[in-house]
Amino acid sequence: MERIYLDHAATTPLSKEAFDAMYPYFSDQFGNANSQHGFGRDGAGAVLEARQSIAKSLGAKPNEIYFTSGGTEADNWALKGTAFALKDKGNHIVTTRIEHSAIYATCKQLEKFGFEVTYLDVDSEGFVSAESLENAIKDSTILVSIMYANNEIGTIEPIKELCEVAHKHKVLFHTDAVQATGAVRYDVKDLGVDMLSFSGHKFYGPKGIGGLYIRSGLKIEKLIIGGEQERTNRGGTTNVPAVVGMAKALEVALENLERNNEYVASLRNRFVEKICEQVDEIYFNGPKAKDYDKRLPNNASFSFRYIEGESILYSLDLAGVCASSGSACSSGSLEPSRTLLAIGVPVGTAHGTIRFSFGKSNTVEQVDYAVEQVVSIVARLRAMSPLYHPTASTIKTVK
Ligand SMILES: *Cc1c(COP(=O)(O)O)cnc(C)c1O
Repeated sequence: MERIYLDHAATTPLSKEAFDAMYPYFSDQFGNANSQHGFGRDGAGAVLEARQSIAKSLGAKPNEIYFTSGGTEADNWALKGTAFALKDKGNHIVTTRIEHSAIYATCKQLEKFGFEVTYLDVDSEGFVSAESLENAIKDSTILVSIMYANNEIGTIEPIKELCEVAHKHKVLFHTDAVQATGAVRYDVKDLGVDMLSFSGHKFYGPKGIGGLYIRSGLKIEKLIIGGEQERTNRGGTTNVPAVVGMAKALEVALENLERNNEYVASLRNRFVEKICEQVDEIYFNGPKAKDYDKRLPNNASFSFRYIEGESILYSLDLAGVCASSGSACSSGSLEPSRTLLAIGVPVGTAHGTIRFSFGKSNTVEQVDYAVEQVVSIVARLRAMSPLYHPTASTIKTVK
């Protein structure tokens, strides 16, 4: 049976170009980039080039890019590093109710250490308003952290506008751009953000590598200490192959961004239209599928009333269709997703949510097969559900 991968928001396959670029750094050119000899210089040169390339891709300067072990570390560093550096100035942080757990759990930990965190509400499509941010900022606020694009429902936040609000009050602004990078064209200087997190494996690069952009002039406390790497700001031997692979993957992603987005969105839209035609009593979560500026091109999140997401996922997996219930990071837990509750999905319905996220190697045939499977699995599970009465008023939500 062919397996169909519809979980690109969890991770993407490594691109051929990135793999090829990485390969020599696993074998002949294995040197430690900090070593003072030929092997070391090979590695150091590759890291320098990768840093320049990523900086150019994001609109930053090379010395504003710091490599980390991924998006989670970058998020932890931005929040804790700022909180610890500015603790004498204030103890208040503003974020949202729909952040990835890398931000949410870090905020919870900072609360334990005496910081106060405001979690902003969002509207029914997942948008944070400039007004609510404005109202949340107070004298003790030291940092605002708002994600660029949501990993569960695909909402793209108005980062530039939100950043302006923070700066008007002289408050630093961080964005978790892990889902946006490679899918949304942006320039850090134009956005105006002070810090921005990204991660290689979300844009067809390798896993276990990411980075934090820190605007030059901004000093935050270190998170991982030890060696002198990353200009003494992040200890640990540089993962040379991963750094090289991430830079290559980002170049490729940005070169083909519009074309890829158009293709991936066409698959997503086909899927959404067919599901909405053939399944009743569902919610399509997030902004409308065709509001391209407001949502990621690859994301489709549906809540199917009266049935459990886990059962749908299991049946889909048996049929070879690989999707996700909520976010990969919270699946396995019985708590309904914070993001879905924040946009007003009722708890019971939130449990029946599946996220499908498409990618550049998916095909129209795969989309049609996935639709067929979803339609028949939902019908079968509902037939067994004590909650489902086909006569109930229909709330078919077509967007
Ligand atoms: C995947 C993801 C992360 C975590 O990145 P890792 O590199 O997997 O640690 C953080 N934030 C968002 C929005 C994500 O989608």
